[in-house]
Amino acid sequence: MSRNILLMTGDGIGPEIVAEASKVLDQVNSRFSLGLVMSEAKLGGQAYDEYGAPYPEATRDKARQADAILLGAVGGPKWDAVERHLRPEQGLLDIRSDLQLFANLRPAILYPQLADASSLKPELVAGLDILIVRELTGGIYFGEPRGIRILEDGQRQGYNTDVYTESEIRRIAEIGFELARKRGGRICSVDKANVLEVTLLWREVVTEVSTNYPDVELSHLYVDNAAMQLVARPKQFDVILTGNLFGDILSDEAAMLTGSIGMLPSASLNKERRGMYEPCHGSAPDITGQGIANPLATILSLSMMLRYSLGEQKAADSIDAAVGRVLDTGLRTQDIFTPGTTKASTSEMGEAVLKEL
Ligand code: NAD
Repeated sequence: MSRNILLMTGDGIGPEIVAEASKVLDQVNSRFSLGLVMSEAKLGGQAYDEYGAPYPEATRDKARQADAILLGAVGGPKWDAVERHLRPEQGLLDIRSDLQLFANLRPAILYPQLADASSLKPELVAGLDILIVRELTGGIYFGEPRGIRILEDGQRQGYNTDVYTESEIRRIAEIGFELARKRGGRICSVDKANVLEVTLLWREVVTEVSTNYPDVELSHLYVDNAAMQLVARPKQFDVILTGNLFGDILSDEAAMLTGSIGMLPSASLNKERRGMYEPCHGSAPDITGQGIANPLATILSLSMMLRYSLGEQKAADSIDAAVGRVLDTGLRTQDIFTPGTTKASTSEMGEAVLKEL
């Protein structure tokens, strides 16, 4: 049975990193006889340039047919002046919402070879393995009403709405508990229940869901404390479960514990476990076109795709192992480079992974 994989390079460094990941995908496809059929579509700024919309119909049709999607990244200064609803980042919000990709999984794993690249002391981060489960299609990024209005006294007022229904909280909590059960058996739910009613409900519903998972230990933290704990004692965490806004921020913080955002993959799944896979980072306009972007987060996103949407554990393991072996050789892109290691370009890193496969 063939399965459809949609590749979307997006903007900035997107084409550079997806080019490397795409070679890796072709190689595992033939080596493990996966029967994957690849096609391409445009999202973000490149879609706006061609179709006048960041998530055009042509892309929507292909995305809805796909068993899994690999995305580079979207956005960049070129589109800064474009109206908000046509900005590249809106395309990302639209596709997540259209495909109901409500569960965002972001592992923050520190490869032992990269302990020196972390900004924290190696003993604080060595062996770090956190999974952040972030709700992705609700909360303040989607809540209505929103906007900037003129008040009676003539000044402008910006406003957004943070909303979650019980069912939205329950379905993401269940994913978090299921994953915690398969890992270290601990989940920490992050909210701001002392100030925000929406997250008070979050805490109540997560606590209700926990009664179905007596084998998983649940704790709660306020987001300010969670941010502090992540840098003070990061290894205390197993699974972190949180909403859209807090998850956005905490996952970037966790990313830096691991040395570079260029190492971190992510998965965004819907209830049938179809999903979109992408590196945690953005389009990195500051390094676009220089051939120095780290392609490993994108390559590791492929491994998550094989594991979570396609059920191809062996192929996924082979990619993870190949990345580990490349790091063993001391090859590093600029973002993870430390003295004594060997600097590699984007394509040299991609080629090295292919060779190890
Ligand atoms: P960014 O993640 O693009 O870059 C932050 C820093 O990390 C930069 O210094 C960049 O050079 C570096 N970096 C990122 N990826 C790297 C890689 N693979 N290898 C080496 N270094 C890497 O975040 P930003 O600068 O805040 O945003 C740039 C653009 O990306 C904006 O338009 C933003 O809206 C967009 N963005 C898109 C996504 C997405 O597509 N999912 C996510 C975040 C930001």
